Amino acid sequence: MNLHLTHFLNLPGVAIESCNSSEDSIFFQLTILAKKIQCPHCRNFTEELHQTRPIIVRDLPANGKDVYLKLPRRQFYCKVCQRYITERLKFIDLRRKYTQRFEERIYFQVKKSNFEEVSNQQHLGVEQVKNIFNHMTQKQKKQERLELSKQTFWQRNFGHS
Ligand SMILES: [Zn+2]
Repeated sequence: MNLHLTHFLNLPGVAIESCNSSEDSIFFQLTILAKKIQCPHCRNFTEELHQTRPIIVRDLPANGKDVYLKLPRRQFYCKVCQRYITERLKFIDLRRKYTQRFEERIYFQVKKSNFEEVSNQQHLGVEQVKNIFNHMTQKQKKQERLELSKQTFWQRNFGHS
């Protein structure tokens, strides 16, 4: 494990196992530090690993190179509710192939320029850029709805409207 690089990467709950780079990309092999996860259905902690699949996730560029994270997608088994649970990482949204901070960067870049320009800059297909932009737009709408319902709740229950 490379502590200096892990610190540099600044992602919670993971450590860098190895790193190799080509002319235009850097690949980090990551391990996940947690031995167990909490079942979202019954809150029981389980360390019964059912299966592991390697995934590749795009992250923010470093030193002018595209960065890819190779990490395991882990599925655990919860004995209490007899269900398989896919681990969720804090820095990747469910079923996404990019880190949250990468998607945020793309979103703001598109807002400032356009799909084609960002596609060229980041070496991503235009469709991928559009997909990220849509995902972020949906996420923001969801967040706004949540904020709004919180406000309504407070106004209804504690007066001052
Ligand atoms: Zn459970």
